[in-house]
Amino acid sequence: ARPPASLLAPAALYGDERRNSMGFDISDEQVLAGIMAAREQPVPDAQPLTVSPGSGQMQDVLNPATGAAIAQVMMVDGDTAARAVADARIWTAPAAERAAVLRHAADLYEQQHAQIFNLLAREAGKTLADAVAELREAVDFLRYYAAEGEASPQAPRGVIGAISPWNFPLAIFTGQIAAALMAGNAVIAKPAEATPIIAMLGVQLLHQAGVPLASLQFLPGAGRVVGTALSAEARIAGVVFTGSTATAQVIARSMAQNLTPGTPLIAETGGLNAMIVDSTALPEQAVRDIVNGAFRSAGQRCSALRCLYVQEDIAPHLIQMIKGAMDELVVGDPWDLRTDVGPVIDTKARDDIAAYIAANKARVVHELPTPAQGCFIAPTMLRVSGIADLEREIFGPVLHVATFRGDDLQKVIADINTRGFGLTFGLHTRIDSRVQEVSDAIHVGNIYVNRNQIGAVVGSQPFGGEGLSGTGPKAGGPRYVPRFFAPSQPSSIG
Ligand code: GLU
Repeated sequence: ARPPASLLAPAALYGDERRNSMGFDISDEQVLAGIMAAREQPVPDAQPLTVSPGSGQMQDVLNPATGAAIAQVMMVDGDTAARAVADARIWTAPAAERAAVLRHAADLYEQQHAQIFNLLAREAGKTLADAVAELREAVDFLRYYAAEGEASPQAPRGVIGAISPWNFPLAIFTGQIAAALMAGNAVIAKPAEATPIIAMLGVQLLHQAGVPLASLQFLPGAGRVVGTALSAEARIAGVVFTGSTATAQVIARSMAQNLTPGTPLIAETGGLNAMIVDSTALPEQAVRDIVNGAFRSAGQRCSALRCLYVQEDIAPHLIQMIKGAMDELVVGDPWDLRTDVGPVIDTKARDDIAAYIAANKARVVHELPTPAQGCFIAPTMLRVSGIADLEREIFGPVLHVATFRGDDLQKVIADINTRGFGLTFGLHTRIDSRVQEVSDAIHVGNIYVNRNQIGAVVGSQPFGGEGLSGTGPKAGGPRYVPRFFAPSQPSSIG
């Protein structure tokens, strides 16, 4: 049994070395003035950063809020990817030096906060509040993995392919790279197709801090070209991936062609995350956590709440309160400080989620008006009888709500476990024994009690799933960096 997340040590209990980033206060006039000035800066094109010169096709990078092209990206060809693998060299500097470089990079990230917020808003449609949280997490990963890897260094595996998602285009991108580098590996980083520019800035800052180019190369491109090269090449010693369960399965199959035995795939994938609110919960607190969990970041977190179970005794009242809280949400321009919900990532995502809502029109309990321009989906609540009604993970601001009878709690837990995903789970209750009972029974990576289920904090809430939601080890936890070390050789056979 895992202790509930609420019982884990807060970040502040770690020593100075691992103290988490303080973040930035965007209500501070000077900080805000810096961000607004960065907004006027031209956005650079994304280019590969590789030892040998790269080649490929230029493609537009779009702002999801407006649909306008903000810059271009070179989508590298297969030869460029193959050369990057051949050119890669493990990072042989001593662990203490590697840690110092990563800490220096963390400082550079913080110094560049205005440009980072600018790119997170323009390229990924992040609200400024989400952009602040994302930079904090990136900085936390750099400092936390530096401390973890320095403590007990071992030999690296070799060349690691890092394939990252657009929903945390700086934080998860940086976390994968930092852990693999801290273990002394060479990394080839493939950013998500939608978000190469912020990722390139991260790699430039890592290079500026002292990571050698041959130990960290940057390869923007199509999954089918770069992802294939990074998973099927015999020289690849491991792949770290965050994204959909389906893509993880494609990568696993591709890696099967890489005949080196034991090449690990570290995958963090999707979820159908549930929350149970029983009749003893504090409604005001539960509603705040439900709305944040389902709609913050426009629901584009793999940790987001997808299926809410409310005990029937309090359901009419609680659902009414959720509607009221939804009505307070501001949907729109990520640059507007009042905005709660920004755009979804692209027109394909928008059309896909809109089609899902349209197909489930009869189930709509509440929805907000959608801005006419840009890739927006307004927060929507759908009624379901349980998690079995969710055909798949809808990666957007759509909350499904079901009710349950007090006697059926075990059945609800069994239904959630049966779906096979296991990323996050939330529980709102004031019955102490229920916390332990439910935590023991539910099969997920991260359990949150009487709080929302998003925004795991590096170092105090290691994040990752079970079953279809991922392989582990959890990101931001003590087992992560060790996974990037070569397995220790057995001293004798037998
Ligand atoms: N770690 C993030 C959180 O706790 C989610 C990561 C993801 O969406 O991939 O909200």
